[in-house]
Amino acid sequence: SFHKSKGQHILKNPLLVDSIVQKSGIKSTDVILEIGPGTGNLTKKLLEAGKRVIAVEIDARMVLELQRRFQGTPHSNRLQVIQGDVLKTELPYFDICVANIPYQISSPLTFKLLKHQPAFRCAIIMFQREFAMRLVAQPGDKLYCRLTVNTQLLSRVSHLLKVGRNNFRPPPKVDSSVVRIEPRKPALLVNQKEWDGFLRICFNRKNKTLGSIFRQKSVINLLEKNYKTLQALNPATAQEEDTNDVIEFMDEDMEMDDDGVDDGTEMEVEDGNAEGEVSEFKKKVLDVLKKSGFEGERSSKLKLQQFLDLLSQFNKDGIHFS
Ligand code: SAM
Repeated sequence: SFHKSKGQHILKNPLLVDSIVQKSGIKSTDVILEIGPGTGNLTKKLLEAGKRVIAVEIDARMVLELQRRFQGTPHSNRLQVIQGDVLKTELPYFDICVANIPYQISSPLTFKLLKHQPAFRCAIIMFQREFAMRLVAQPGDKLYCRLTVNTQLLSRVSHLLKVGRNNFRPPPKVDSSVVRIEPRKPALLVNQKEWDGFLRICFNRKNKTLGSIFRQKSVINLLEKNYKTLQALNPATAQEEDTNDVIEFMDEDMEMDDDGVDDGTEMEVEDGNAEGEVSEFKKKVLDVLKKSGFEGERSSKLKLQQFLDLLSQFNKDGIHFS
C-alpha cells in the first residue's frame, strides 16, 4: 500500500521512464542524485546510464524494497541509499539530479537544490503541471509570479515533457510535467534580503502599476523606516549600495504566491494629508520610479533584468528593502 501523505505515486509506464532518462542527457561519468526513488523504477535506468546513484528516500519500507531489488545485481555497489527527509539531509556532491518527487516539497526542494554548492549541471524533475508552468512562465503569462522570478534569478528552466496522471499508480489528482533546471553559471549576485523585500512588494499585487503599489501608505512607511534606520546607523554611507552576498532563501520564500487578480475595486490608501501634500520621502521614492520609467509598469509584465535594474536604482538613491 502507498502513503498518500508522502506523495507516493509510482511511475508505471516504462516508456515514460526511458524518455525521462534519455532527455536527461546523463553521461557515463555522472554522479546522479535521485530524490524519492520509491520502488526503484527510475533508479534502475539511472544506474544503467550513469556512474553512481545516490538516492534519498524518507520511507523505510521503500528503502528496504529498493535494497532488495538491487541486491546481488551488478548495480548494487553503485547505488547509495540515504534514508531521510531530503529537506533535512545534507546533500553530497552530484552532477545531475533526476527525480519524480512528492509534489508537496516542490518549492523548498527547488530552492534547496539551487542553493547547493558546487552547483550541479542540471536537474530533471517531475512537478505538478501548474507548478512547472509557473517555473517556465514568461512576463505577461498568467502564471508569471514571484516564484518564477526567484527561480529564474538562479537558473534557466525549460519544459521537457507533459505527463498525464494515468502514468502513475495510484494516479494523482493532477497532471504533471518534467522540467529541466540549469543553475546559472556564474550566478547572478544580488543582496538576498534586498531582493526578497523588493520582490514581495512588487508582487503584492502583480497586476497593479508599480506607481500605485509604491504610493501605498504601508509601503512608504516601511521604506521610510528602513531609510531612517540606515541614516541613523551610518549617515555617511547610507546612500551607497550594499555589497552583494550569496542568495540564501528562507522558509517563507518557498511558498507559492497568492496571485489575487486585481479587480480594481480595492481602495487605495495613500500617504499625504487632505490638502494632497506629499511627503519628501514619498517624493523621493516616486522620483526613482519616474526617472527609471517604471511608474506605469506592472510586475506581471517585467523581465528579470528590469527587476534587477529597478532595485539597483532604488538602492543608489538610498532606498532599501531590508
Ligand atoms: N521515484 C519513484 C517512481 O517514480 O516510481 C517514486 C516517486 S513518488 C512520487 C515519491 C517518493 O518520494 C516516494 O517514494 C516517497 O516515499 C518519497 N518521499 C516523500 N517525501 C520525501 C522526502 N521529504 N524526502 C525524501 N523522499 C521522500
